[in-house]
Amino acid sequence: MAKRILVTGAGGFIGHHLVRYLKARGYWVRGVDIKLPEYETSPADEFLQEDLRHFECCAHATQGVDDVYQLAADMGGIGYITGNHATLSRNNILINSHMLEAARVAGVKRYLYTSSACVYPSFLQKGAEVTPLKETDAIPADPEKGYGWEKLFAEQLCTYFHEDHGLDVRIVRFHNIYGPLGTYEGGKEKAPAAISRKVAEAAQGSTIDIWGDGEQTRSFCHVDDCVEGLYRLMESGYRDPINLGTDELVTINQLVDMVSEVAGKKLVKRHDPTKPQGVRGRNSNNDLLRKVLGWEPKILLKQGLAMTYPWIWAELEKHGRAKSPTPKKLDLSWNAYKASHSASRSAATAE
Ligand code: NAD
Repeated sequence: MAKRILVTGAGGFIGHHLVRYLKARGYWVRGVDIKLPEYETSPADEFLQEDLRHFECCAHATQGVDDVYQLAADMGGIGYITGNHATLSRNNILINSHMLEAARVAGVKRYLYTSSACVYPSFLQKGAEVTPLKETDAIPADPEKGYGWEKLFAEQLCTYFHEDHGLDVRIVRFHNIYGPLGTYEGGKEKAPAAISRKVAEAAQGSTIDIWGDGEQTRSFCHVDDCVEGLYRLMESGYRDPINLGTDELVTINQLVDMVSEVAGKKLVKRHDPTKPQGVRGRNSNNDLLRKVLGWEPKILLKQGLAMTYPWIWAELEKHGRAKSPTPKKLDLSWNAYKASHSASRSAATAE
């Protein structure tokens, strides 16, 4: 009988991709979310629309499953997470504490929690030229206000559930995941999606607004690499926090240039220093990831943007908002998606 897997946050960006990944590998999957996926139907065997801030809903969700991937969270881009500290922290504390207890009561075998690079201390991220953050840097703590503090505490809670109740946990710290089928407007979108939207809506030669001076740095990881990393981590047996991201550091200005190149547009950047930009610089140290998994993300940022921009452009085009040129059409069927993934993977490996 196929293993039974629960993916929470299955109506969201990474959760939806993870359900697709697990279904393609023959697992029985239950998806749970407060909302359905926005852009295509979930391939989950069962999809429950439930509010995981309530213990009864977590108990219902965890019934009869072997493994849990806990991705449900109230989160968004930098504007959203810096403007909603109380609501977001409360929502996520409720989801994470109830989900862990429900998993314990239901006798779940393995439990993976998705944390964030926002747990790392801000005093280590003051310059654009950062030293890549390694897992042990998280303590002594000075994480992102609200969202980061909650993630750090939820990591600890997972460890306590392992120590006190024997729950077999995994704790992963994502570094800026992006790709198709993700939110691209409304305040919850991340930088690659927000910039792709601005570039798609801009006429050739026009001006686009960039938050901050654009010299803040980040690394970005394509969602295909992310879901593969999640699966490998679940299988690894490793219980301490571990980074999942790339160490390809770019400035936001470089990110804009890459998207513009993929789009075939020449644009002028107008910087807005009044907008939030988060920490000045952040990069992932992947030494532990390589050691534990014998693997790391392979899709280069430019390849990943070439798979993401055409999808956002096509979405905007449906509402008459995208400006020419039309990017190469992307077939988002599962087979085409896998084929483009393995093509980019072997290209990346070959370089
Ligand atoms: P997302 O917002 O697309 O997905 C999260 C999902 O959780 C949403 O569909 C949302 O509806 C659901 N959710 C929120 N509150 C809920 C509730 N009360 N009950 C049930 N479902 C609820 O975000 P994502 O990018 O797919 O992120 C998935 C996980 O990874 C989150 O835990 C997030 O904090 C973490 N993470 C993501 C990134 C990133 O770059 N995308 C970076 C660091 C950490």
